[in-house]
Amino acid sequence: MYEYKEAVINLAHQLKEFRSVAIISHVRPDADAIGSQIAMAKWLKSFGTDVLCHNDDPIPANIKWLTDIEPVEFYTQTELESCDAFLFVDGNTPDRFGEYADFFRNAGKPAFMIDHHPQPDESLFKAMVSVPAAGSTAELVFYLYQNTNPDLIEPETATALYAGIMTDTGSFRFDSVGAHTHMIISELIRKGQLNVARIHERIYDTMSENQLKLISRALEQISCDPKTKLSVMYITEKDLEETGCTHEDTEGLINYPLSLKETKIAILFSERRNKVKMSLRSKSDFNVNTLARFFDGGGHAKAAGAWHPGPMENAVEEVSEKVRELLKE
Ligand code: 5GP
Ligand code: MN
Repeated sequence: MYEYKEAVINLAHQLKEFRSVAIISHVRPDADAIGSQIAMAKWLKSFGTDVLCHNDDPIPANIKWLTDIEPVEFYTQTELESCDAFLFVDGNTPDRFGEYADFFRNAGKPAFMIDHHPQPDESLFKAMVSVPAAGSTAELVFYLYQNTNPDLIEPETATALYAGIMTDTGSFRFDSVGAHTHMIISELIRKGQLNVARIHERIYDTMSENQLKLISRALEQISCDPKTKLSVMYITEKDLEETGCTHEDTEGLINYPLSLKETKIAILFSERRNKVKMSLRSKSDFNVNTLARFFDGGGHAKAAGAWHPGPMENAVEEVSEKVRELLKE
């Protein structure tokens, strides 16, 4: 369990002072980002605050339904500037929030943050809830409700928070999960009368035939280095083209190399025009956030993301070499 109380009360207290708040979630959003954002929007609206929920990217199809609760859109800088304050959700530095990073840094608006990633850009925020030990940002948003007005948690908010916690804890199985996680879940199910099987199905059982074809291709190429226990999977633009898939369809594929018994570290390399996106995971005490930071990325100790300028072969070779180097240290 971790400390959060003072920080959530302070954030809540300060946020209530504004008439309008732009709530911003990170690029390539996941259910934790969107669920937390929506729940914060509902919390602020309950005090009569005007909100805009901004995201730089399209919302993935399997979580798009969450935005029926509260719309999340791409807004112009002028629209965002009309708000009195910015609240950043599930990310802790402007670069995680897309092409407006410089604008967010220099807009001169009071900025706030609620997040669970390590190494926050502290100087930017007037107040923040920054708890790397938390399994999800949605947990922290739950505590914000619980310590201000727990009765505000109704079915839609409970659904949004449940989706965030479920996905960011790998369906309640990561190291970050404890009794407190299940206490929160129990409260959410009770307050929201949740049908958890239905939420799980809407988020996870959404594969298309094309996606299954892509997986089948990618599975054939998985290899695990017997020395480093690094398992690598890669997807090229050609794979996507020939199976009729998009980049969004690669979401979650990293779990296949990770599920191999021998694997200690898994990386999915995915070609994006002239770059290579990497998803990094660890099943050991090897810290993939440290690795990601060498390659223009970051994240958590056990799950991180990074970028390589390409081409694919160089990305695989250089990152594998860095893994060998870090393992020696
Ligand atoms: P994924 O593999 O799902 O893209 O990313 C796993 C985690 O790594 C995300 O939840 C996020 O915390 C982090 N992450 C992904 N991409 C980036 C990135 O480009 N920069 C940073 N700092 N973190 C990232
Ligand atoms: Mn998160």
